[in-house]
Amino acid sequence: MSKLPDFDVIVAGAGPAGLAAACLAATRGFRTALITGPGETQPDPRTVALMMPSLAVLEDCGQWPGDLRESTAPLRKLRLVDDTGALFPAPELVFSAREAGLDAFGWNIPLALLKPRLEARASELGVHFLRASVADYAADAEVASVTLDTGAAVTAVLAFAADGRNSALRRAVGIDMVSWSYDQTAIAVSFAHSQPHRDVSTEYHKPAGPFTTVPLPGRRSSLVWMERPQRADELMQFDDRALAAEIQAMCHGELGLVDDIGPRRSFPMSGARATTFARNRVMLIGETAHTVPPIGAQGLNMSFRDAHDAVALITQGRDRGEDIAAAKLLTDYDQRRQRDVRPRQTVIDLMNRSLLSAYLPLEAGRAAGLAALASFGPLRRFAMNVGLGASPPV
Ligand SMILES: Cc1cc2nc3c(=O)[nH]c(=O)nc-3n(C[C@H](O)[C@H](O)[C@H](O)COP(=O)(O)OP(=O)(O)OC[C@H]3O[C@@H](n4cnc5c(N)ncnc54)[C@H](O)[C@@H]3O)c2cc1C
Repeated sequence: MSKLPDFDVIVAGAGPAGLAAACLAATRGFRTALITGPGETQPDPRTVALMMPSLAVLEDCGQWPGDLRESTAPLRKLRLVDDTGALFPAPELVFSAREAGLDAFGWNIPLALLKPRLEARASELGVHFLRASVADYAADAEVASVTLDTGAAVTAVLAFAADGRNSALRRAVGIDMVSWSYDQTAIAVSFAHSQPHRDVSTEYHKPAGPFTTVPLPGRRSSLVWMERPQRADELMQFDDRALAAEIQAMCHGELGLVDDIGPRRSFPMSGARATTFARNRVMLIGETAHTVPPIGAQGLNMSFRDAHDAVALITQGRDRGEDIAAAKLLTDYDQRRQRDVRPRQTVIDLMNRSLLSAYLPLEAGRAAGLAALASFGPLRRFAMNVGLGASPPV
């Protein structure tokens, strides 16, 4: 193995998490390569509600606000509506950005816009693109070496594994996942409506999971609709007119008449977490490290914090003259990220299972928790801060 690495950092995976990590690393002056992977086989209709700390990451990448902001919409209020028909219904809960001292919690950005912007920015910053996939990995005391599916090998001091939930790099480095599944499928779609959304995102808690509308510019919203898999399969077969009628009924007409349905895609729901987030000159980033159902917009927000913390830690290490893949640095990264990710996964899991289960104490517990949040300002403000995900400085 060569002792003189080709790069400082190799990023595997050109999803939003890997692209952000590559941009941040290049911004800090690391010689960075990006292994793009196979890419998308179908259009991605998802939008991501990115909270203010994630927008600060985008700003650091040179991609926010810029013209991206024109194609996105702010989230000024988040509304939780108990629509389960439960014996103990929770009161309606409204989180207001103003109460948290903010103009908006965040902005809702289509992934189909975000990814090309980050890709173009990475290119501007001099990131070296390798249009291939990770096939294998090895490391010694000085160098990380990634073998590509082309047969070529590329070396760096450190690798970021951001190649998604079935990460080849994570497997090659020998990190296991703890994973679980839900009897749910999420449908992502967008639609037009006749009434204004007033920058409010509404999460209707239904017996099969949350049904969440998120503002887009004008009279348009994106939707994450969690359903039992069989029902989701049926909905995916509906024509646009029938789907619009279903959506309108599911939000009780609160957004008026629904039409102009966008492309849709379904995602089986599961959760997963890596047993460690770093090993052997590799740090895991994004869904390579953790997966959650889309409740409370936590997924990519956590991933942007992975990217931020990883690059902040290695920058500090470099500035102290250390090996940027030193064992202590990897341990710091693992501990820091697990502290952020684990409790969020637990809360999301409990919230989701409390909807799916007909178990009365769990249902009552959810209602009592939401009632406490609705009536007690300090608790609500604490929950808003946690939800926003502002993390302590590295
Ligand atoms: C319906 C839905 C709604 C969501 N809404 C939100 C939201 O509002 N807010 C939020 O924060 N999060 C949200 N999320 C979560 C968010 O969409 C994901 O966390 C995010 O898209 C995952 O990005 P990633 O870069 O980690 O992974 P991916 O996007 O999966 O990227 C992995 C990349 O690795 C590449 N790759 C694969 N194999 C290899 C290989 N062998 N070598 C190299 N590269 C490889 C792939 O081509 C891909 O480009 C939502 C998720 C869903 C399902």
